[in-house]
Order: sequence, then C-alpha cells, then structure tokens
Amino acid sequence: MRYVSTRGAAPALAFDDVLLAGLARDGGLYVPDEWPALTADDLRAFAGLDYAELTTRVMMPFVDGTIAEDDLAALIADAYRGFAHGAVAPLKQLGPGQWLMELFHGPTLAFKDLALQVVGRLFDHVLARRGARLTIVGATSGDTGSAAIEACRDRAALEVFILFPQGRVSEVQRRQMTTVDAANVHAIAVEGTFDDCQDLVKAMFNDAAFRDRHHLSAVNSINWARIAAQIAYYVWAAVALGAPGRGVSFAVPTGNFGNVFAAHAARRMGVPIASLAVGTNRNDILTRFLETGTLSIGTVEPSLSPSMDIQVSSNFERLLFELFDRDGPALAAAMGAFRRDGRLVLADARWRRARALFDGHRVDDAATLATIRRIWQSTGEILDPHSAIAVATAEACRRDPTQPMVALACAHPAKFPDAVERATGLRPALPGRLADLMTRPERVAVLPNDLATVEEFVAARSARQEAMA
Ligand SMILES: *Cc1c(COP(=O)(O)O)cnc(C)c1O
Repeated sequence: MRYVSTRGAAPALAFDDVLLAGLARDGGLYVPDEWPALTADDLRAFAGLDYAELTTRVMMPFVDGTIAEDDLAALIADAYRGFAHGAVAPLKQLGPGQWLMELFHGPTLAFKDLALQVVGRLFDHVLARRGARLTIVGATSGDTGSAAIEACRDRAALEVFILFPQGRVSEVQRRQMTTVDAANVHAIAVEGTFDDCQDLVKAMFNDAAFRDRHHLSAVNSINWARIAAQIAYYVWAAVALGAPGRGVSFAVPTGNFGNVFAAHAARRMGVPIASLAVGTNRNDILTRFLETGTLSIGTVEPSLSPSMDIQVSSNFERLLFELFDRDGPALAAAMGAFRRDGRLVLADARWRRARALFDGHRVDDAATLATIRRIWQSTGEILDPHSAIAVATAEACRRDPTQPMVALACAHPAKFPDAVERATGLRPALPGRLADLMTRPERVAVLPNDLATVEEFVAARSARQEAMA
C-alpha cells in the first residue's frame, strides 16, 4: 500500500516512511491511496479473536510490504499486555441499545495509549532495522505528553523531550510526565504558556541544521500510524455488537478529529457503521461547520474537557481531501485561504455530503456536569467530562433506536477529579497501579522560554545517548 499527501505535491510513500515522516513535505497529511476492504466473511472471522489479534488483522493491510505479519503481531501483543483490563477496550451497557466503550485502561488512563503504545514500538522496530535513531520533541497541554512518554520510554532508538507550561497542567498530568523513571525521557517545564511551548517546538523543527543533526521527529496526532491503530476498536465494537448482520453507530468526543476519522475509515473499509456523531464542547468549530457549511476559527476557550479545547482540528483535512474528490492542489489552495482568512466556505454539495456522513452536537460545561451526575445516578458509572460529552452526544444524535449506539469513554474519571467531584460529590481514586503517583519522586528540568537554552538542553542529552549507543 502507498500513501499520498492531501496536498498532492509530496512523493507517495510506503508505511514505514510515512510513520517516520509524520507530516508530508508539502504540509499535507498522508492517507492511503485506497481503502483496504473488510468483507462480511472477514468480520465474521473476527468474532472470538482477542483485541491484539483483531488489531493485527485490521492493521496488516496498512503496513503490508514494510513489516512482517509475525513481527506486527508480536509488537501489538506486547503493546496491550500492560493494559489493566483483559478485554483492552471493554463494552458496558448503559441502557437499551446504549453502550459505552472504555478506552482508558492503558498506562496513562486516556484513549491515546491504544494507538501510541503500538506506535512507539513501530518506531523502535523500523529504526532498529535501519540502524537509525530519532529525537522525539513535543509540546503538550495535558494527555498527549504522558501518553507519548509512556510509549517511548526505554526504547533504544528514541530520545524523547516533552515541553509543558510550568504551573499550567494539573498535578496528575504533571506527575504522569515527571515521575517516569527512564533515562531516555526528559520532561521540560517551560516558564511560559502552552503556546510558548508549541512555538519552541515549531522553532526547533524550523531550525533545519538542528533538526537534521538530532534527527527530530514527532508523534503527534497527524501521524497515520495512530489512525490505523485506532480503526481497530471500531471494528472490535461493531463485531461484538452484531456486525456484519447488524449496523452500529458511534458518538466520539472530538478535538483534532483523529479518533472520529478512524471511525470513518472503518466505515470506508466496509464495517456497517450506521451513523457517526461528533461531540464538541464550547470550542465547537466542527459542530458549527456541520450546521452551516463554513469552517470558521474562533478563539480557544478553556472548558471542563481540556483535551477538546481545540479550534483547528488537524485531521479534518483528511475528510476535506475526500470531499474535494482527492484533488490535492485544490485542497492546498483552500487550506492556504483558510490559514489566511480563518474561514473556509464549502460548496453546497460538499457540505451536504459531510452532513450525510456525520452528525454534530455541542455540549457546554453545565450539560457536561449534568450528564456525569445523571449517568452516575441511573447506572452507577462515573464518567470523565470527555466521556460525558460522548454520552450526551449519543443521546442527542441517535438516528435509529433499533440499532446499538456506542459512546466512547476516552479518559478515566480520576484524570479529572475536580469536575467529577463537582458533579457527583465523589472524588474518584486513581487505579491501584498509579496509587503512589502523588508520592513518587519527580524529575523535571525547569527552563526559561528561550529557544537557545532549550536547544542546548536537547542537544546535550541526545548527543550523550548517541555516544552510549
Ligand atoms: C485527545 C483526546 C480527545 C480528542 O481526540 P481527537 O482524536 O483529537 O479528536 C478527547 N478526549 C480525550 C480524553 C482525549 O485525550
């Protein structure tokens, strides 16, 4: 399988090169040149597989020709071995036809572990074969940093540096980054805001000499390998709830559009998905787009669901590529205009196609808290704020009451204890394996918001590791 850029001006690449490249050289995102097909017989054969086996079967066509099936199977089995629930992605029933899929049983308690635990191992595998090393650099305002750190820790071919704004992430989130006892992991508290952290990372990538000398790379959500790994849990849920004989719908709390795009990919591959509902918080650019056909950037406002406090959803470009009938140059022009004007008006026919594919629903903080309280009272389940948005969206957007609808629980409630306590009066406890998180020793470098200082720090540590390797 080959991958093409959504902007049509970068070379088509194989899976291993797409994995290491992340963003395409023309600024676009890589997508497969065609969708692999899952037939009704394939789906029937998936019933009874365990989660890792099913993920291997779903991912194999995407890596075909670059990674042997045995290697992929071993790496995926290893990725999910450490999950706290034997099912990896267990389904719970909330009511008639109403389901919750729990995606927070990985090491950092958010769904990002399902993809990143695989992607960290894929990086290691591909780099070892090439005898190469990479320096992963990223900025985080919360969940992604710890998931990336856990995915890359102790991997011989990787050195990882995560920048976060000092004093501006929650204590649980900070400790998940600073208490990791691995020599190749470096948590950096920047004396600045999240935007400062992101600007520092961008500046390091734009410093071509620095980038090449230290082989900088990223594991951000535009990496196709993350989407490929996420497709598996949609197939998993559909098969568990009756596919291919019965269709299933999903409600997905959405920020960068990566998670819900994986659901769309599963549908394109032949999984009988009846409808996909996109849940947003007050940062509702996607819901407004589905209502009006215009993408228009607002300012990011903080909410109780911080992992969805995003205005420009980077993976949305992958859907636009389809709506533009895979015309890369036309999309490149449209994205240029969007960046310049902060607005993109879609032709009526394209907007109608998008509305046929997705429903949108906005859930503000008050409704988020009310949903946490109501579901706790009626079922005993405690939802985190992001999962509550999924459940509220599933309720609002259920098109066919005879078919099951699955809301995605994307974070463990103990990651957001303040909101949960406001809604229920209960303060959720961290699971046993993280119970000592608040007393573990922290290791963090506090650095000023200054590019030269940060580059010096990264250079000294990635050079030291290279000398040891
Ligand atoms: C990252 C994240 C999201 C948003 O997912 P996207 O793939 O960016 O749409 C939602 N909820 C939680 C808990 C997250 O960590």
